[in-house]
Amino acid sequence: MTSPSEQPALTGTLIFDLGSDDSRCVEPPVLDVPPIPLDEVLGASRRSAPALPHVTEVDIARHYERLASTNFGVDSGFYPLGSCTMKYNPKINEWACRLPGFADLHPYQPASTVQGALELMWGLQEALAEVSGLPAVTLQPAAGAHGELAGLLAIRAYHTDRGDARTRVLVPDSAHGTNPATVAMCGYEAVQVPSDERGGVDLGALRRLLGTDVAAIMLTNPNTLGLFDENILAITAAAHEAGALAYCDGANLNAILGKTRPGDMGFDALHINLHKTFSTPHGGGGPGAGPVAVTDTLAPYLPGPLVARDTDGRFSLADPARSIGRMRSFLGNFGVLVRAYTYIRATGADGLTDVAEQAVLSANYLKVLLHEAWPLPYDRTCMHEFVLSGSRLRKEHGVRTLDVAKRLLDYGIHPPTVYFPLIVDEALMIEPTETESKATLDRFAAVLLRIAEEAAEDPGLLQAAPYTTPVRRLDEAAAIKQPDLAWRPSPDS
Ligand SMILES: *Cc1c(COP(=O)(O)O)cnc(C)c1O
Repeated sequence: MTSPSEQPALTGTLIFDLGSDDSRCVEPPVLDVPPIPLDEVLGASRRSAPALPHVTEVDIARHYERLASTNFGVDSGFYPLGSCTMKYNPKINEWACRLPGFADLHPYQPASTVQGALELMWGLQEALAEVSGLPAVTLQPAAGAHGELAGLLAIRAYHTDRGDARTRVLVPDSAHGTNPATVAMCGYEAVQVPSDERGGVDLGALRRLLGTDVAAIMLTNPNTLGLFDENILAITAAAHEAGALAYCDGANLNAILGKTRPGDMGFDALHINLHKTFSTPHGGGGPGAGPVAVTDTLAPYLPGPLVARDTDGRFSLADPARSIGRMRSFLGNFGVLVRAYTYIRATGADGLTDVAEQAVLSANYLKVLLHEAWPLPYDRTCMHEFVLSGSRLRKEHGVRTLDVAKRLLDYGIHPPTVYFPLIVDEALMIEPTETESKATLDRFAAVLLRIAEEAAEDPGLLQAAPYTTPVRRLDEAAAIKQPDLAWRPSPDS
């Protein structure tokens, strides 16, 4: 195993700190027309020169190269961020979405002039319908949470149309935080359903909570513990019996691609995060796409436009009859749609099934390597991810999961998701994905086992980590709530 790299900490130099007043990147040609003072044209709106950096071209190139290499991404190292599916994103996706025939389209072009783009979207709708087992698909939503909103608004419109005023949505306690947030945004009350001792939905509790006031149940399967709910058919049937619909958070389909389908499990609606399962580089807020697939019953409520293939083989855009309206401008996040379609076609149907098998195998392999040193609150065969608890390290050595996460950075590994799901104490949620080699998985396990030893030998080492990153420990709340991301000129410049 390699030790933490000795890379010197990078400073936070800004482009404005570089160069000098007489450095130039571009030297404009000598003027061969009479000069026109801008003041005469624009009025005296600017009294001093704009505060632009003065930097040579080579210094610009180095500056941005340094920033790019300071960033950590899937292309720089292992990134087992649970629930986020940080799989390798094949470069052919990038090639396809940059083809001028896609990249240079104007969103106001008439449908007759963008037939190729519409055909791609139609093909993607069809593929996602097949993968999900649900016949109608909208590509509008721009993220997973956005898809949840679209799906739940469609469910609300369905109940409203039937004159059935329902007020509550049931959400398991293991749910992704976006689920209860979506419920609240739709004007419903989120009601928490407890998990049972096997990590699934507590079916008895669910049955007790279901009633004529429940509009929907909203859950993830496999759930955020990485566990497939063995009672899923009974769960969706119980919802339907009570007149509620079943919404599946399908942000992450990696474990079930080609194996089983949410539609076959009895779900009425689901969103799919293309940027996760279908491989678009994501993180830091974008880009994404969260298409929604629904049953025929919910299809009339989907946000449009949907792409239809007409009898003459041409493609056109249409809004469903009782559509909840637009979720996004134009045709959705088109570049992400091209990447997802490319990924699906390049991988093929058999390949997608392989994705699921490999993802599940990788997760179970890692789980077995780690589960003695790192307790697993729900120790079952897992799907695409599993959740360890750092509670023993905390109790025995005063080392928290946060310290472990920070220490992993010193070993060049992106930490797993931590402190989620909320029902696991000191949680580490690990999703290796299908694209990692056995050697990478072995090294990661060795590093985590080494860190457990470090915790016993020298807890202070972990509590002060990381040592090799450009910045050490940030105020996590301030970093989120008051991010300092943009340079502003000082008032006197
Ligand atoms: C990622 C994720 C979401 C949210 O998706 P965004 O695209 O980040 O809005 C919702 N649910 C689950 C289970 C997820 O993993």
